[in-house]
Amino acid sequence: MTTAPHRIRLPAAQQPTWTCDGLVENVRADLAALPPLVEASAVHRLRAELARAAQGTRFVLQGGDCAEPFLDSAPARITAKAAQLCSLADLLTTRAGLPVVRIGRFAGQYAKPRSQAVETLADGTVLPVYRGDAVNRPTADPAARRADPARLRAAYDHAAACLDTLLLRGHLAEDAAAGSVFTSHEALLVDLETPLVREDTEAGGHYSSSAHMLWIGERTRQLDGWHVGFAETVNNPVGVKLGPGASPDDVHELCERLTRGHGAGRLSLITRLGAAETARRLPALVEAAADFTGRVVWLCDPMHGNTVRHSSGRKTRVLTDVLREVTDFFAVLRAHGVPPGGLHVEMTPDDVTECVDDPAGLATGALPRFRSTCDPRLAPAQARGLLMATADLLARKDTP
Ligand code: PEP
Ligand code: MN
Repeated sequence: MTTAPHRIRLPAAQQPTWTCDGLVENVRADLAALPPLVEASAVHRLRAELARAAQGTRFVLQGGDCAEPFLDSAPARITAKAAQLCSLADLLTTRAGLPVVRIGRFAGQYAKPRSQAVETLADGTVLPVYRGDAVNRPTADPAARRADPARLRAAYDHAAACLDTLLLRGHLAEDAAAGSVFTSHEALLVDLETPLVREDTEAGGHYSSSAHMLWIGERTRQLDGWHVGFAETVNNPVGVKLGPGASPDDVHELCERLTRGHGAGRLSLITRLGAAETARRLPALVEAAADFTGRVVWLCDPMHGNTVRHSSGRKTRVLTDVLREVTDFFAVLRAHGVPPGGLHVEMTPDDVTECVDDPAGLATGALPRFRSTCDPRLAPAQARGLLMATADLLARKDTP
């Protein structure tokens, strides 16, 4: 028996200080009474697909915004994101001959962990940081940055609108249709995730009805913290980000605790070590999970370890670094006889200038179409370039 999710009493990192504390309890009660956003049957189907990825007969493409705006629940917006995901998956299947599991970083990617709690503007004003549309607004003024519990309910409504559109247009994996997508987001907010847990009438225990897959971020994967404890109580596939500070012991304990009682495909380890560190740090992490080969999925997030400053002062990422991290990821896994399971990327179907193609791009001009409210995403051509290179790595099975 797993602990009922509402009984977890562990410290939770990265939680907002809500402006109207009393309201949170009302919002939580409302959320607990609403219909599930996703069904348990689709959650289990995704786990079965991920089991195949763990064994090397599927490849995972998980992608979408860093911070998904509520406004993108408009049908044209969510459809464009699902279409981009599917077209990249098709590209990979065509070039590498492997079926692709499509997991959107959308329909609920509304909460952001941040490295600083406040932001200082050019004029010296200090504001609370933007923590995602489920918490506050990105506009740089004090009213917008207040953490408003009503936004938790809005997060549910926008995710529901996205899921309705995906279902209506035949994009959603609820009915096991070919070419469909699953949804995922970072399980960050205690006050959003807890009330959306439902009984799992198929498998017993509980599942999170907020998305098919959830992941735990680099800043909240403490072994004694709420997020890992919460993940232990739900049956969904879960991912855990692994940055340069992750130790082999961390990885081993995460594998033990998060696979216990579950079939293959339950846990994805999402490495985001950076291009400079992957070859050096990944081998020990892979060795720490050796007992779990074929049961855990190794995903590469080549974005979050490669964030640098553009001359304009913006955060950016260099596509050649992204490619190098993926190349080293493949080489290390294959050297250990472990299948590279997939990619986790921040990308958009919009024609943005957020990431640059090569290091020369760091010094030149500005980034005129930087539209992300958080991290820089790959533009469509950059995402295609990355997927083509990845397909070529996949197809060259014999050469690490
Ligand atoms: C993210 O996925 O947007 C993120 C914050 O990643 P990480 O937890 O790996 O830093
Ligand atoms: Mn990000």
